[in-house]
Amino acid sequence: MPVLDILGPEVSRRPPVPAQKPAAGSAALRKYGALPAPSLEWTPQVERETAHLYARVQKVIPPNEWPFFAPYVKAINALKKQRNAVILAHNYQTPEIYNCVADFTGDSLQLAREATKVDADIIVQCGVHFMAETAKVLNPGKTVLIPDLRAGCSLAEAITGEDVRLLRERFPGVPVVTYVNTSAEVKAESDICCTSSNAVQVVESLGAERVILLPDEYLAKYVASQTKVKIIAWKGRCEVHERFTADELKQVRANDPSVQIIAHPECPPDVIAEADFTGSTAHMIDWVRAKRPKRVVMVTECSMADNVQGELPDVEFVRPCNLCPHMKRITLPKILDSLLQMKEEVVVDPMIAERARRAVERMIYLKS
Ligand code: SF4
Repeated sequence: MPVLDILGPEVSRRPPVPAQKPAAGSAALRKYGALPAPSLEWTPQVERETAHLYARVQKVIPPNEWPFFAPYVKAINALKKQRNAVILAHNYQTPEIYNCVADFTGDSLQLAREATKVDADIIVQCGVHFMAETAKVLNPGKTVLIPDLRAGCSLAEAITGEDVRLLRERFPGVPVVTYVNTSAEVKAESDICCTSSNAVQVVESLGAERVILLPDEYLAKYVASQTKVKIIAWKGRCEVHERFTADELKQVRANDPSVQIIAHPECPPDVIAEADFTGSTAHMIDWVRAKRPKRVVMVTECSMADNVQGELPDVEFVRPCNLCPHMKRITLPKILDSLLQMKEEVVVDPMIAERARRAVERMIYLKS
């Protein structure tokens, strides 16, 4: 069924702003201190010690580029042990991060779950700011770092806590579900969070006739098509997924009718209508693992296909794909700097964190 109403400003995307200002001399730096920069030379020893990691990415990183990445990979892996740190990396991170330095990888839901279990003093979030905030909200006693504070998200920037309070006034008693791609302030105003993996399940779990589902207009439309619950949506969009078009997919299929097309629910409805399967990044990867199509188009961020190519050498990943400029702010040199200088520390107001935690935990502990 179509969504009941779509609210929000005409231009949904606010200009990207740093989600949090860098703090000079953060508490993390005072607590742990800075470390000297390691050698970043490409030597026979570095080559030997990183050979097993290069094997994971050799299909997507040419041999002449590895001497640049390898010294960073070795230094970061050593520093993680020294600092008792773990790296969480989203599926949209580049292959050298995803395959060579990450301890946990996955979509927003998987990373949120891992964040509750990590046994480390420090979490380095290789993803965007709302993910780092979620890690901090779930681990108030741990130090959470993000290698670049400017790694934002067009969806998270589409809505504020004040917007949610106004919606509650307009629709009294209607439960509010927010996508995890929102700030801690917005999560704090919500009844429960959801991800693209579990949005339908979360909406139906509330037992309500109407639900406000924020802030992704296209995810809300997809959920509305899968449930009898009436959905009130917001005009937020992912700037990566909104750029795909049904015409480009029709063209791909015309060139090869056997190609499989799988799409993320943040895509426009006509794109989803062209797809053979729709699901979150984790569900898309599982689908390709299970079905092993000869050729497949993953209608999502570019790096995902690169990241699973090593594991699935028999599958040909066909483009189109689009890059997320925010995810791509995270690089190996910035991760190294983050661990050396303890920056950028993610801070969330404890009062907001407590309320946001309730909404996130309610989702995590929802029975499947
Ligand atoms: S891909 Fe879209 S939803 Fe994900 S971080 Fe980038 S802008 Fe946000």
